Amino acid sequence: MNLSGLKYLVVGSGFFGAVIAERIANDLGERVVVLEQRDHVGGNSYSAPDEATGIDCHLYGSHIFHTKNGKVWDYINNFCSFNSYRHKVLTNHRGVVYQMPVNLDTINRFFGTAFTPGEARAFVDEEMRRDCNAEPHNLEEKAISLVGRRLYEAFIKGYTAKQWQTDPKLLPASIISRLPFRFSYKIDYFDDPWQGIPLEGYGAVFKRLLAAPNIDVLMDTDYFAVRDLIPADCLVIYTGPIDRFFDYRFGMLGWRSLRFEKEVVPVGDFQGTAVMNYADEEVPFTRIHEFRHYHDERPYPTDNTVIYREYSLPGSRDMDPYYPVNTAHDRETYEQYCRLAAQEANVLFGGRLGTYSYLDMDRVIEQALQMYETKIRGTGL
Ligand code: FAD
Ligand code: UDP
Repeated sequence: MNLSGLKYLVVGSGFFGAVIAERIANDLGERVVVLEQRDHVGGNSYSAPDEATGIDCHLYGSHIFHTKNGKVWDYINNFCSFNSYRHKVLTNHRGVVYQMPVNLDTINRFFGTAFTPGEARAFVDEEMRRDCNAEPHNLEEKAISLVGRRLYEAFIKGYTAKQWQTDPKLLPASIISRLPFRFSYKIDYFDDPWQGIPLEGYGAVFKRLLAAPNIDVLMDTDYFAVRDLIPADCLVIYTGPIDRFFDYRFGMLGWRSLRFEKEVVPVGDFQGTAVMNYADEEVPFTRIHEFRHYHDERPYPTDNTVIYREYSLPGSRDMDPYYPVNTAHDRETYEQYCRLAAQEANVLFGGRLGTYSYLDMDRVIEQALQMYETKIRGTGL
């Protein structure tokens, strides 16, 4: 492909890169090239039908779209319609299935009680008073300050240790702040007013986002292999890992990676729900995804189902990065990379890898729209 005279190049076709490319092509009316190192677009949000069963599988783990942001919801609805799926998660602790996040049902089942909301709150307050005596500074202290030590040890400690393979005392409290704790029987995982799964799957959403004739997508293409061919005055929007961009000058940022083990099981329903967590450290995987449950509206086969077991792995240069670990040392290293990034006149950094952040899809879309409005449109390029 001829890149001479190119004004806009996007590295990565996840939600950040795809939204930026869509805006440059359709709003600005300019040509844009998207480089994607994988053999498909969509980044980690991608989904595709399993060949044998037709069941749409989320290749990088379950992705549920949820947002409070009306602008993001309106934007994404230009490219797909959503079904009415509401995410509910269960967790298996010592062979008993509980509702997750911790709610009144979890508390009553775990303690063998029939507390009302007020009684449960008073009970948990008492647990907290006993177990938590300081301002929480890390994930463990924060979790204990929310639910007390016994619920922490049953539902959080083992799962977190498996998922992060880092002492919960070294993890930031913000990770656990993602989880609500409730004194009601409400089981919805997310509180957001707009939720669902794209009716035609995420693969179709990315196809539409990148459909404009002035968008060229180059698959199986690593930016670093073609960097020298890019015109010096081309604006690069880079959504890959920020540490890799600078050749790991200050060392590698901490990431957790994941491995998925796929199985087609000859039953119509394996676990009765989309996601079952496994809270105990002795079980080697963190959760099982069963994708048929994301599309109740589809006539899927009744004799087969697809499950993915999810295993956590340490990050390395050869592994796909999934979760930023974000220790205090990582934050310092990231600040050093940010100072270098600020000196790059023709490169903008975005997305979860480019900004080393734990971002949901709606936040990524929001930030991409913001970057387009403030840093790309009207810059006179
Ligand atoms: P990515 O999707 O990672 O895309 C980056 C792209 O850049 C990739 O395709 C990559 O191959 C490409 N790339 C990187 N380097 C290069 C290079 N050098 N050259 C060319 N291409 C390159 N969010 C939700 O809202 N709901 C959920 O339920 C949810 N579940 C999640 C579950 C898991 C297990 C994980 C890990 C995340 C989940 N998320 C969820 C978050 C969601 O995955 C992210 O918000 C989203 O993927 C971020 O999009 P992005 O474009 O920033 O990055
Ligand atoms: N978590 C936990 N037990 C669970 C589910 C979550 O301890 O059953 C903790 C864990 O530390 C996790 C964090 O809560 O990293 C946030 O959970 P979330 O479901 O948001 O994580 P994700 O789906 O993004 O992996």
